[in-house]
Amino acid sequence: MAENQLNEMFEKYRDPRITEKESVVDEATAAVFLRRLVKCLHSSNFDRVDYVELVQEISRAYHLSKGVSEFYQNIALERRKEGEVFCDLDDGKGTILLLKNRIVANSGAVLITTVYVSEDAPVLSLNDYNNLDLMMNVIMSFISRRRLQRVVEQYIFFDENGYPNVRYYLRELFRLEESGQLGGMIAVNFDLHNFAVINMDIGRDNGDLVIQNYFSMIEEVIGNRGCICKLGGDKFLCIFSPDVKNEVLSILAGVPVAYDENIERKVKVSAAAGVYEIPEGSVINKDDVMERIMIATGVAKKQDEGAIVFYDDRMKETRERIKSIQQRFRDGLANGEFAVYLQPKVDVDTLEIVGAEALCRWISDGRIVMPDEFIPVLEQTTDICDLDFYVLEKVCGAIRRNLDMGNPDNLRISLNFSRKHLTNPDLLEHILRVVDQYKVPHEMIEVELTETTTDVQFRDLKRVVTGLKEAGIRTAVDDFGIGFSSLNLIREVPWDVLKIDRYFLPKDDESENSRACRMFRHVVELADDMGLEIVVEGVETLKQLEILRENGCKIAQGFFFDRPLPGEKFEERLVQRNYKDRF
Ligand code: C2E
Ligand code: MG
Ligand code: MG
Repeated sequence: MAENQLNEMFEKYRDPRITEKESVVDEATAAVFLRRLVKCLHSSNFDRVDYVELVQEISRAYHLSKGVSEFYQNIALERRKEGEVFCDLDDGKGTILLLKNRIVANSGAVLITTVYVSEDAPVLSLNDYNNLDLMMNVIMSFISRRRLQRVVEQYIFFDENGYPNVRYYLRELFRLEESGQLGGMIAVNFDLHNFAVINMDIGRDNGDLVIQNYFSMIEEVIGNRGCICKLGGDKFLCIFSPDVKNEVLSILAGVPVAYDENIERKVKVSAAAGVYEIPEGSVINKDDVMERIMIATGVAKKQDEGAIVFYDDRMKETRERIKSIQQRFRDGLANGEFAVYLQPKVDVDTLEIVGAEALCRWISDGRIVMPDEFIPVLEQTTDICDLDFYVLEKVCGAIRRNLDMGNPDNLRISLNFSRKHLTNPDLLEHILRVVDQYKVPHEMIEVELTETTTDVQFRDLKRVVTGLKEAGIRTAVDDFGIGFSSLNLIREVPWDVLKIDRYFLPKDDESENSRACRMFRHVVELADDMGLEIVVEGVETLKQLEILRENGCKIAQGFFFDRPLPGEKFEERLVQRNYKDRF
């Protein structure tokens, strides 16, 4: 260092304690300290004990008494002195301020380091002072980097309320995967059951407390045998070793959780959980684990009550089948792979065909796929709505062609409309638009709807049925007698037709006085009394036909007459028009 520079520095640091006398710590020792410091701080496995020892060694060499670091998130907090203060060194004698460094990081955070000496400490030389300053700068750059890392870590791995988040979970899975410890662990994804209702009952703030306490319960049980994190809302992920399995699962199955300090007010919390017990010794990766717990959770959530579902490979097959149907549906619809079959409805006295039900078939790769395979899948999204309108267009087109040919056989065709349509406020208009576009008389179309499960749906159902009735389109309640049918359904909704499900139709071996027969009789009587037309589905035998006649049911639909027929086969049937030749 040139002499004038030295003088400049000396001016800058004009400290009565710094002299040009011989250094307290010689250059060589100072250089070794610096090297050790850099090595200690920058090694990937930083050891705090080593670091503190080194700092103490340096402090002893320079006769320092006290070292203080202060950390503030920003300047405003620094002004208010709201930050963290660390003191790695203090012998109680440091009264004279020797050195003070303050840096403001790019993030706005402020770091201050101050070093004190005692009154009887030996006077340092300028070299001592410079070396010490350099060492302090090294330490500060390290502290600010570690701090920044901690801040970043907090942002990345924790949410705004301090819960570990999904990245935290994935990091843990990755760590277990890398160290070959994933096999044998139990991974769980869970949603709290009906938490929206709990929130409504006790208020959001108390709801948050419940979540916090429930989370802590599981966290405590898991301890250091895994981890739990929050995906958001009332959704969580955890992984743990088998020794805490029973305890964790019993919490998930349902426990009372308090939400006040006196632990007096409690609610019962349970979860819909998907569990994957990772086979011991398996070489599975974290993505597969995630996929499996999500699949099992999907199954758990479909059950009405909160449930714990263990993953098995068949679930994956089901899910892949569902995905494949959903992916192929659009193309299938565009390529005309969906065919409309018609099943005759027959007057039980005259044996004449009086109508038909349109039922869909998917002709895929030369195979006829039955509705049971694809309708429930399409009902998981609104795909089913597009299919129903496709069927409506096909039916209206066929009726139009028939009318244009001057064919007098004006049969009413019924179509199935999924419950998924009920929330669509434009449903009625949409149906009328299609029917009118083909100039099909409204009375030739009948819309079949099944019962609903909730009050909201019930209101929608009533609105839709009333609207259709006003527009002159008939409505039928489908599958009556199974599922959620209630008497309210026929009291409150102005249906035209009641379709009694085949499960309700007595079997051949049932005696006339059996419960099934008696119930069937009463339901028919009730519907009749309410002015509803009755169609009985699933008539397979002559004896069943007799039962219909005896009970005054007018219309039958079933394999006894015909299965659902492709369009051209149905036309052939119409030529003959009745089934008298069967007798
Ligand atoms: P659904 O509306 O109750 O239709 C009657 C079902 O009973 C038809 O099954 C029919 O083939 C069957 N069936 C009729 N007579 C008999 C019989 O004597 N014995 C037996 N064992 N079964 C009989 P399919 O065609 O397989 O349709 C099943 C369900 O799929 C339908 O039940 C309906 O809910 C739904 N579906 C079919 N096509 C459509 C559609 O285009 N849209 C909507 N939303 N659903 C549809
Ligand atoms: Mg039907
Ligand atoms: Mg039915």
